[in-house]
Amino acid sequence: MANKEQDVKLLEDSTKYISDPVLQNNVVDLGKRMINHPAYGAMDYKWTTEDFDLGAALGRGKFGRVYLARERYSHFMVAMKVLFKSELKAGRVERQLLREIEIQSRLKHPNILRMYTWFHDDSKIYLVLEYASQGELYKHLKNSPHGRFSEHRSAKYTYQVASALQYCHMNDVIHRDLKPENILLTGNDQVKLADFGWSAHTQSNKRKTMCGTLDYLPPEMVEGRTYDDSVDQWCLGILCYEFLVGCPPFESDNTEMTYEKIRKLQISYPRHVSVGAKDLISKLLQKPSKNRVSLVQVMRHPWVQQNKEKNPNDTVVIEKPQNPRI
Ligand code: AMP
Repeated sequence: MANKEQDVKLLEDSTKYISDPVLQNNVVDLGKRMINHPAYGAMDYKWTTEDFDLGAALGRGKFGRVYLARERYSHFMVAMKVLFKSELKAGRVERQLLREIEIQSRLKHPNILRMYTWFHDDSKIYLVLEYASQGELYKHLKNSPHGRFSEHRSAKYTYQVASALQYCHMNDVIHRDLKPENILLTGNDQVKLADFGWSAHTQSNKRKTMCGTLDYLPPEMVEGRTYDDSVDQWCLGILCYEFLVGCPPFESDNTEMTYEKIRKLQISYPRHVSVGAKDLISKLLQKPSKNRVSLVQVMRHPWVQQNKEKNPNDTVVIEKPQNPRI
């Protein structure tokens, strides 16, 4: 059971660094409301739809809709994913969803989308998720000049995704489905890894299931061999390339050609890609999985280190957060 008085004191101390008094008051006020919520520190609190005000639709996935929502007591904003049990059953994805819930709800990292809680009624399952006001990273990539990110944004996001994956691997989780569509962006330009539908516990060591997205498949999956968590390093190499170029490196007109290019590691870099970026990508896109650089090496790579901080000439246009309309 949480000690509420101590937690309020901790909250007040930890928010003293906020220089704007109005913002500081708001944060303390929200924190106090959360601490005084009956669910705070209680494992058995039964969340229901009555606890939330539903707002604007944020998007639609294959198996449900996502809405902006506000917890009624604390006014804490969340994204609420609503899934119909009948559709999950028809799509035979019940197990996949349970795995996603089990994995995502225990991962707590600044670059991984938090799943705060979940509950269900007769017909629906509700996932209470962290709200990422800028939505899918994919949309931002497509709307960027020339459909690609600058070296600064690419390095910054690559660093953050590497950090999230490193945390997953330390917790025996492989993501297995990295791509810009599965990454969300917050209002202060931080990436949040989401969609753990294909993720897996690695404790069973080597796995053989073929999953993920065609353009991101590593050679060991294409060739039906066993694989381990280094598949995520391969996918990070593809992702970094897609950030810088606007499309994945092995994209082709048909599946067979993509497979062929992956097997032969047939890759070309447009002239604008810097030597440092090429160096990192080529160290991740290694056919023998043991040759791929580690995620810590990615975070320490000179190109990432030199480019991840903001360059004054590089303007990032962040749209205004969507109006909550609650
Ligand atoms: P999904 O079902 O996870 O594919 O989500 C469908 C769409 O809802 C995504 O493409 C996003 O635009 C939006 N969305 C999902 N989760 C969130 C979130 N946590 N915060 C903001 N938007 C989200």
